[in-house]
Amino acid sequence: MERAILTIGASHAGVQFVASLRELGHTGPITLISDEPDFPYHKPPLSKAFMQGTASVANLNLRGPQFFHSAGIDFRPGLRAAGMDRDARRVTLSDGSTVAYDVLMLATGARVRTWPGEVLPRNVFALRSLHDARRLHDAVTTTTGPIVVVGGGYVGLELAATWSVMTGRDILIINSASRLLARSASPELAAVAQAQFCAHGVGMRMGVYARQFMADASGNVCGVVLSDGTQVPASLVVLGTGIVPNQELAQIAGLACDDGIVVDEQCRTADEAIFAAGDCTRHVNGYAGRTLRLECVQNAHDQARVAAAVICGHDARYHQVPWFWSDQFDTKFQTVGLLPEARSLCVTRGTPMAGKGAYYHYDMAGKLAAIETVNMPAEHMLGRRLLAAGLSVPADRVADPAFNIRQML
Ligand SMILES: Cc1cc2nc3c(=O)[nH]c(=O)nc-3n(C[C@H](O)[C@H](O)[C@H](O)COP(=O)(O)OP(=O)(O)OC[C@H]3O[C@@H](n4cnc5c(N)ncnc54)[C@H](O)[C@@H]3O)c2cc1C
Repeated sequence: MERAILTIGASHAGVQFVASLRELGHTGPITLISDEPDFPYHKPPLSKAFMQGTASVANLNLRGPQFFHSAGIDFRPGLRAAGMDRDARRVTLSDGSTVAYDVLMLATGARVRTWPGEVLPRNVFALRSLHDARRLHDAVTTTTGPIVVVGGGYVGLELAATWSVMTGRDILIINSASRLLARSASPELAAVAQAQFCAHGVGMRMGVYARQFMADASGNVCGVVLSDGTQVPASLVVLGTGIVPNQELAQIAGLACDDGIVVDEQCRTADEAIFAAGDCTRHVNGYAGRTLRLECVQNAHDQARVAAAVICGHDARYHQVPWFWSDQFDTKFQTVGLLPEARSLCVTRGTPMAGKGAYYHYDMAGKLAAIETVNMPAEHMLGRRLLAAGLSVPADRVADPAFNIRQML
């Protein structure tokens, strides 16, 4: 009999996984559990086109009702996996029902880190889900006055850029690090992002953090107290202070977790019947040669494909080159590879500060480790092929604007 495959979480990883299973010929039962009420949707537009109002919910569908019907996937929205019995190979759902499995995929993703301590005033939000995005969109269109974005990571910056164009309101970014994108971009790329915010009149306070949120008599946020004691006015606050993996289901069931559900290059946990993929995993990353937890669509999709292939009997391994993108104002930032912890060189190609160019980062051994592009999607695609093939480009050639990277392939 064909194995019954149960997937928990119906976002980028979970949906890619079930689609890949069918593409690879799995004909047994597939059940997909989601604790969200909606059909699975693309997350990246939530801070961009959906927030601007240029993409509707229908435009966000990862896969619509027709897909689940024709692929014979039992999609069950609005149900949370509350516990699992690994010996009996059974998951208990929030309505008290149980689902048996032969193979279980945990694609539970991540959630926004909760603000410690205090009860937050109204109009303080975070963004992770479509539900969050709807509330945030309503709030930004029904309030007036200054907006404070807490955190200088990608999601916070995308919202700040979107709102700056959309609303013309005063926007202030509060960033505890000394520069934007301290965790996820080079100082050079962060400087390009920062220059754009300056050009659009978006305020920034670096090296301070939000300590407390003040409420008016109606309970609405009216200001933020910063770590240096200053207060800034706010009628809307968004917390872009990072995410944590949804690993509790695995953890309680005794699976190893370490800032993510621990999986190998084949997305297997230590339990032969249980796999995991996407933002919820700490995985052995064949490309990096170490364990990582990545927070990007590419990782969710590629891990899901690998897991599906392994389950369907192929000897697949996850060694894809990581890549991701961010859209801010009219600029597309794209990164491929992993920024080296210590680098020997950063070579500038073109003029990223003027809106078109790239930064090539070399590790201490002089090997190309990552490429960050600014409005150069074709160069980004070449970079993906280059790094996937394990090729480097001599730094002096990169610096030559007449040199075509394609020649290296
Ligand atoms: C606003 C925003 C913009 C982004 N922009 C970009 C971008 O431009 N480029 C990029 O590469 N990445 C971007 N990302 C990151 C990207 O969306 C994530 O990396 C991706 O969504 C990860 O997919 P996932 O399936 O692993 O996890 P998630 O998307 O987190 O999905 C996990 C799903 O599982 C559900 N779930 C969790 N626990 C349970 C349970 N016990 N029972 C049932 N269901 C459960 C969750 O509710 C959720 O629906 C963005 C993210 C956000 C929020």
